[in-house]
Amino acid sequence: MDKNVSESLIVMPVERKDGTYALRLCLNQGLLTPGQTRRVLEVMETHDGTSLRATTGQRMNLEGVPKEKLDEVVAALGTSIPKCPPGVSVCPGGELCKYGQQETREIGDRVLDVIKANGPYPFKIKSGVSGCGMACGLSFVRDIGLVAISKGWNVLYGGSARHRAAPGVRLAKGVSEDEALAFIEKGLIYYRENARKGERIGMMVRRLGAEVIVDALK
Ligand code: SF4
Repeated sequence: MDKNVSESLIVMPVERKDGTYALRLCLNQGLLTPGQTRRVLEVMETHDGTSLRATTGQRMNLEGVPKEKLDEVVAALGTSIPKCPPGVSVCPGGELCKYGQQETREIGDRVLDVIKANGPYPFKIKSGVSGCGMACGLSFVRDIGLVAISKGWNVLYGGSARHRAAPGVRLAKGVSEDEALAFIEKGLIYYRENARKGERIGMMVRRLGAEVIVDALK
């Protein structure tokens, strides 16, 4: 793609308390191409009062869109959808970070594929992939978490960063990428079949007990 040509984006409108809208850019792993960046800048240059804010989920919000300009700004950016598809929080990993034990971006995409292939689920799933134990991808407090070690991957299940925050239970230690994804798939199917509607994985783990879960997912 020519970096001088702007590229369209998929966005999700979010209503704000003051009546304006934010347009969430439905990014994958927080990445914006040069063409997408150009498109956002073009829109900001022609719409005073807008600003760009990074979200905790590795996405960006174009803030400050007046309600009466919503359709016009959406059309200028690309197309709108009611909800961004699930994403994965992924740290820069071994490819870029000096502490990284494993590469993270490719396995992040594979985690997303497994999540998409096994739904629908009783409630939302947040996942994180980190290239080392510092866990910049928030893996310990995501529903599904992967943390790289020198020998492979640790798999975490049912972490939560909400009230009653807690790390996920460890399903596997030092397994290969394929083995880690197999654990994740098993965990997602278990969640789909055993959780109550509206229950996050961590809530289900608390209700049934970590030992029961680890046993079932061996
Ligand atoms: S988790 Fe580790 S590899 Fe990933 S960005 Fe943080 S320090 Fe680097």
